[in-house]
Amino acid sequence: MADKHVYYFGGEEAEGNAGMRDLLGGKGANLAEMASTGIPVPAGFTISTEVCTSFYENGGKYPDGLEAAVASAIERVEKTMDAKFGDPADPLLLSVRSGARVSMPGMMDTVLNLGLNLETVEGLARKSGDERFAWDCFRRFVQMYGDVVLEMKPSGKDARDPFEEILHAKKVEVGAGMDMDLSVDDLKDLVVRYKAMIVEQAGVEFPEDPREQLWNAIGAVFNSWNNDRANTYRRINGIPDNWGTAVNVQSMVYGNLGDDSGTGVAFTRNPATGENIFYGEYLMKAQGEDVVAGIRTPHPINVTQKGEDEVESLEEEMPGIYAELEAIRLKLEDHYRDMQDLEFTIQNGRLWLLQTRAGKRTGFAAIKIAIDMVREKLITKEEAILRIDPEQLNQFLRPVFDPGQKRKATEEGRLMAKGINAGPGAATGKIVFNAEDAEQWAADGEEVILVRIETSPEDIRGMNAALGILTSAGGSTSHAALVARQMGKVCVVGAREITIDYKRRKLESGGTILSEGDFISIDGSTGEVLAGMIKTKPSEVIQVLIEKTLEGKDSVVYRDYEELIGWANGLRTMRVRANADRPDQAAAAVAFGGEGIGLCRTEHMFFEGERIDWVRRMILASDEQGRKEALAKLLPMQREDFHGIFAAMGERPVTVRTLDPPLHEFLPHEEEDIAELAGKMGIDAGVLADKVTSLKEANPMLGHRGCRLGIVYPEITEMQVKAIFEAVCDLASEGKKVSPEIMIPLVGSAKEFELQEEVVRRVASDVMEARGVEIDYLVGTMIEIPRAALTADAIAVKAEFFSFGTNDLTQMTLGISRDDAGKFIGNYIEKGVWPADPFQKLDQEGVGTLVKIGVELGRGEREGLKIGICGEHGGEPSSIEFFQKTGFDYVSCSPYRIPVAILAAAQAALKGAGEGS
Ligand code: PEP
Ligand code: MG
Repeated sequence: MADKHVYYFGGEEAEGNAGMRDLLGGKGANLAEMASTGIPVPAGFTISTEVCTSFYENGGKYPDGLEAAVASAIERVEKTMDAKFGDPADPLLLSVRSGARVSMPGMMDTVLNLGLNLETVEGLARKSGDERFAWDCFRRFVQMYGDVVLEMKPSGKDARDPFEEILHAKKVEVGAGMDMDLSVDDLKDLVVRYKAMIVEQAGVEFPEDPREQLWNAIGAVFNSWNNDRANTYRRINGIPDNWGTAVNVQSMVYGNLGDDSGTGVAFTRNPATGENIFYGEYLMKAQGEDVVAGIRTPHPINVTQKGEDEVESLEEEMPGIYAELEAIRLKLEDHYRDMQDLEFTIQNGRLWLLQTRAGKRTGFAAIKIAIDMVREKLITKEEAILRIDPEQLNQFLRPVFDPGQKRKATEEGRLMAKGINAGPGAATGKIVFNAEDAEQWAADGEEVILVRIETSPEDIRGMNAALGILTSAGGSTSHAALVARQMGKVCVVGAREITIDYKRRKLESGGTILSEGDFISIDGSTGEVLAGMIKTKPSEVIQVLIEKTLEGKDSVVYRDYEELIGWANGLRTMRVRANADRPDQAAAAVAFGGEGIGLCRTEHMFFEGERIDWVRRMILASDEQGRKEALAKLLPMQREDFHGIFAAMGERPVTVRTLDPPLHEFLPHEEEDIAELAGKMGIDAGVLADKVTSLKEANPMLGHRGCRLGIVYPEITEMQVKAIFEAVCDLASEGKKVSPEIMIPLVGSAKEFELQEEVVRRVASDVMEARGVEIDYLVGTMIEIPRAALTADAIAVKAEFFSFGTNDLTQMTLGISRDDAGKFIGNYIEKGVWPADPFQKLDQEGVGTLVKIGVELGRGEREGLKIGICGEHGGEPSSIEFFQKTGFDYVSCSPYRIPVAILAAAQAALKGAGEGS
């Protein structure tokens, strides 16, 4: 740990810079950077994240020297701001805020107006010439101190904040409609009541000593790193617990100081659409939290944004300040070369920047901004690719409402409100009014829309569980909008026409009343809210690529998507294939840019219609004769499927895996099903039931599946190979080129591979000879049993390619059944046993080590051995980066994951190149 714990900034000087995010947190690093760039930032200092880590490691104790360092930093701030901390005549007031390496909006705590007490409040009143303002600050400070430092929160899901209750009661008592209607005496009385409640509920006195206030607030912010919502947020977003947060202590500037004061938040471009338009909101006579909390509805900052709205914009109200802000916007974009999210305060006509950071944005916006910035020559294509979270591409594939259905709903008078379009896409679901219910209902399989007046960080889990989020208050930078955007949720905020009654669990707009459990539909692209259900329709990208109902040139969204995928394709070195079992999936794979099929699970071809019966007869046959009869029925069906798949894929390689059915998935279990099948087979139901029982496996995932089936019953593999080669010979006779790759599953030893390879090669030769056609093909294996990875050199003697089956390899390496893991995986992740679900993100440390061994041994035996991955990890960005590093030739994933995989592969290639140079 470094000796230096505290970093000063202010007055165009700073001890830190933007490169020190890990140590100073995003906010601290940026404040330092802004100060040294000459942007007006109120002076302050940052206590490093190392102090947080050490605080947790040492049972809540601070490192030596911290106290002295804070004291001298305060002196420096006092000099720059020309005021003194705790001075009754001219008090310096401070804010204390968290700030981790990556932004965790609203998850941790903040204390504002710190340093006020019964003496300094009078000083502030004199200094500002506004006694009401001073007492309002004090009242807010006591409330925040109680909430954050003393953890005095609402007691239950339908309860109100205890301080808000006192405030509300006071307003009723004196007949005040709004907070602003409270007099100085009312505010003084509120402070007395708040303090009394603190003594009563928390059992301590509110501290009058500013230094005690400061140290308690610093402790509370460090402690908030470990609160429930921060922990949940870190888990959802994969942020390590040991990063810790920094604490930023900064001079207060006031947006509620008078008629020429205000505060706002802005994005240098529109965060929902990505348009290059300054976008933001502000409130006159307000403090920062008033804008974000969504209690008052803020005004747009400029004329372009306000559109038809009646309200006045900052551009009109304070043109000078707006021009200054606009200049700062350009300076910031030029400096950071990214869209920024900034907070500003105007104090008595003077502009201060409180914060800037890379702005959260929707998938659409991320892509549009990246593309535009390349066109503006602000960034390179490579930087553009690295900036986009591959998962955001999913938003391009999200459904939209069917326009006909939506029009009809509108004509029927079901349009209830129009709010702000905060998270694109369309969602229909049942109404729930609190986060806890959203979680519960979603766990019970319901699709829900979380409806709140405004959201707060406590709602994070419910927001995650909901399909969409709707709020009646708040603006495009409210908590709901920020969090939804980041989660990629459909979201409408500020639907002001709607009134919500939590107690009665009802919402109302224009005479329409909906209750909990009723359907509601929200359009996060237009902000519309409609009663009832509306059918959704595929996104424009899907309409162009899959349904072919829209021309690419007619869709702006598609053209952006195509441009980006084009860049990614030019940068990546790994190929991207699809896991596809049917001709329509193969066609989708090609449409998304898939370069082959990495896994065709032939057992999946047997689930439909009559086929399952013949598979059952094959499995249940008591002798080879019976099995061959069933196989003879299956052969033409398989041939037809293969024909369709190979035809769709053309010259691209197609890996067909021989049968790998966990038997329990195919056997009939219910008495009726057994009786029905027995009837078809012409045997006694009792005899069939006994046979089913005899085939029952205690752990089917480790049972008679994979190549074990083909080894015991070679006629199964024979049928499949015959079907494949008859299909490809048909296509070859039509003059088409095909590239079949036959893959043997669940191989654990070279001998198993050899036994199956012999069958494949024999039958393939027979078919080709009979047809008089010669086709190049490969025979390879899956590596999905740990022993296969450990003996990969022996297997590679004969196997012509490897495809890692990381689903089974994870199951067998971790000793966790794929089918049962769901029961405890959440708990394991919560306890930190695993950083993430190992079936989604590859366990690089364990399973990854086996993969590396397999690659090394395989290529040691067979130079240039083609290696791919077809487990679910083939579509997951962090795993894709691992496969790139490990030298894979391709990844294979579901067709709809291909865009994500393409982008992730491009990022992996860029990162790899970066490391190599
Ligand atoms: C695997 O195990 O990773 C794999 C792709 O095969 P399956 O999921 O069909 O077992
Ligand atoms: Mg497998």
